[in-house]
Amino acid sequence: MASKSSETLRQVQAQIKEACDLLGLNNNYYEILKQPLRTLEVTVPVKMDDGTVRVFTGYRSHHNDVMGPAKGGLRYHPDVDFDEVKTLSMWMTFKCSAIGLPYGGAKGGITVDPKELSAGELERLTRAFTRAMSDFIGDDRDIPAGDVGTNAQVMAWIYDEMSKQKGYNMPGVVTGKPVSIGGSLGRTEATGRGVIIALREAAKRLGIETKGATVALQGYGNVGSHAGMLAEELLGAKVVGVQDHTGGVYNENGLDAKALAAYVAENGGVKGYPGSTRELTRDELFGLDVDFLIPAALENQITDENEHVIKAKILVEAANGPTTASASKKLWDRGVFVVPDILANAGGVTVSYFEWVQNLQNFYWSLEEVNGRLERLMVEAFDAIYEQHNELKIDMRTSAYVLAIRRLAEAMELRGWA
Ligand code: NAD
Repeated sequence: MASKSSETLRQVQAQIKEACDLLGLNNNYYEILKQPLRTLEVTVPVKMDDGTVRVFTGYRSHHNDVMGPAKGGLRYHPDVDFDEVKTLSMWMTFKCSAIGLPYGGAKGGITVDPKELSAGELERLTRAFTRAMSDFIGDDRDIPAGDVGTNAQVMAWIYDEMSKQKGYNMPGVVTGKPVSIGGSLGRTEATGRGVIIALREAAKRLGIETKGATVALQGYGNVGSHAGMLAEELLGAKVVGVQDHTGGVYNENGLDAKALAAYVAENGGVKGYPGSTRELTRDELFGLDVDFLIPAALENQITDENEHVIKAKILVEAANGPTTASASKKLWDRGVFVVPDILANAGGVTVSYFEWVQNLQNFYWSLEEVNGRLERLMVEAFDAIYEQHNELKIDMRTSAYVLAIRRLAEAMELRGWA
């Protein structure tokens, strides 16, 4: 039986094919885009605190770099495998192209549960992985960033280790760094902010008032918690349900997104949050009678088995690939407005791009400048994808792929690739 990640890879290939066919492209473009241009698999031995050596497997994939250096996060999670990393790198190419950034797509990861490691073990693992990738990444070829299971501290170690390897400071080799060593203001909350901008634009087009609207969120990590807090702060909406790897919490009067974020930071998950009136399973969360549903955890959470429970009017894909292709089409056909991941969560890579630009120029921007530029790029991309979806009578996901692949195809043709 095909693994979950190889099935997801197959679904993305089908999505690429559909967009190439809609654009009337010859098969050369699909043949180039259906797989990564280059990949790396490394064995990473690490001395553990108890003196034993554990050997980890790490991956990095460059899907396509016709637009510029490859860009994408690093995931530390027990489910990471090569097909997952390849698929995530493909989504990065389309995301960067859809938003109009001069980047290709990359992704990497290690099969590990970082929660099982001490801080020292995590640092040694990260530095060893960085050394193993040191010819594959660089501020001119491939710029990693954070993702599930990694954070600003991990990015700081990568920056430091690469700088030691090369013999000079290379802040632009990785984004999502702490602000004090070259990170960008606004990067931590950028993905959540972009999600809320996309949600606001979708609600506007559908004539739905966001003030007082209800929100259900899966995942309350970096992306989910900032999306929750900004939904309350910028839209006046009310987060009523949240579910994560520890459990689910609900309060019809609102959970208080900020207080919940503080609780999660302290306790590692939402379970036991005192502001909750009842517990929720994952599918109970998806089935809540809310206006907006925001999956912000992992892939393949909404499938043919559970899509029928969803009552939300707008589903904003903050996570990468939370909805299977088939479930997404069914949702769209029954009137759920699905804002696809490659648009909805593009705020993170957009501010990562701003961070890299600031590092290369050694010239740093104010928070207002960062947020203003993010707002402009997100709204422009939303508009272009929305207009095209109306014009071609296609769903928002297909429209985002068509826009992204049209730009990539033009670049590949001009550069003589196809
Ligand atoms: P994170 O590690 O900060 O948080 C992950 C969240 O998912 C946590 O709340 C965790 O409890 C939850 N989770 C994990 N396993 C779960 C399970 N089995 N069931 C329910 N919840 C589960 O990660 P993040 O950076 O917030 O990333 C979340 C998603 O957003 C991922 O799909 C990631 O690829 C995507 N994304 C992240 C960024 C970014 O800037 N961090 C940018 C674009 C997309």
